[in-house]
Amino acid sequence: MDGMGPLLYEGKAKKIFAAARPDQVVHYFKDDATAFNAEKRGTILDKGVVNNRMSERMFRLLEEHGIHTHFIERISEREMLTKKVTIVPVEVVVRNVVAGSLAKRLGLSVGTAIQPAIVEFYYKDDSLGDPLVNDDHLRLLNVATPAVLRELRESAQRVNAVLKPFMADRKMQLVDFKLEFGVYHNKMLLADEISPDTCRLWDMSTGESMDKDRFRQDMGKIEEAYQEVLKRVWG
Ligand code: UDP
Repeated sequence: MDGMGPLLYEGKAKKIFAAARPDQVVHYFKDDATAFNAEKRGTILDKGVVNNRMSERMFRLLEEHGIHTHFIERISEREMLTKKVTIVPVEVVVRNVVAGSLAKRLGLSVGTAIQPAIVEFYYKDDSLGDPLVNDDHLRLLNVATPAVLRELRESAQRVNAVLKPFMADRKMQLVDFKLEFGVYHNKMLLADEISPDTCRLWDMSTGESMDKDRFRQDMGKIEEAYQEVLKRVWG
């Protein structure tokens, strides 16, 4: 690959390499999968290819709708060139339907519609298990000012306003998803990835999960589900 430099960082699902320009990086998408704060580990064949291609589609779509992202170009099956951002250590979760940790925490039935969508913040810290936090906690931690949190919340709602109907047109219900943001030359950009690892997607005709819940809950046909999501997203 042209201009691929040394490994800068290795995460659970991606490696980040230096690029030719110091303010850009190359993301390499792995097949490794983890769940439950990395207590469960495994491999999903060609997940890296699916997540790279799906993220490309999602970032291009969001850019078309005026949402600024770190995406520059997809350079190979598993590699994406992006702007090099400083990640804000907050996972921004948007929910349209009750599932996962929300169902457990509040005792709500899985599948209950949430209208309008809600946004949650989690403090990105593996040793703490990414706790749910509010604006005051993030200010206390010096992670983000109220103005930045307002920007993240608004951005997340705009992303949802684009992705929810896009998925519905492809017969997938966008249940919830996680976003990460980063700062690049003083500008806030949507970063990380948007994939079946970071979204819950339910088939609209069967109600079946087409995302990482198949891995979390050992539901089988994981590879098939990821490929089907990719097909619908690009189809
Ligand atoms: N999510 C993620 N990374 C995380 C935690 C959550 O991508 O570290 C995504 C997850 O796939 C789902 C949404 O965020 O689409 C909400 O996840 P939830 O809080 O329900 O947690 P989970 O049930 O995954 O533990």
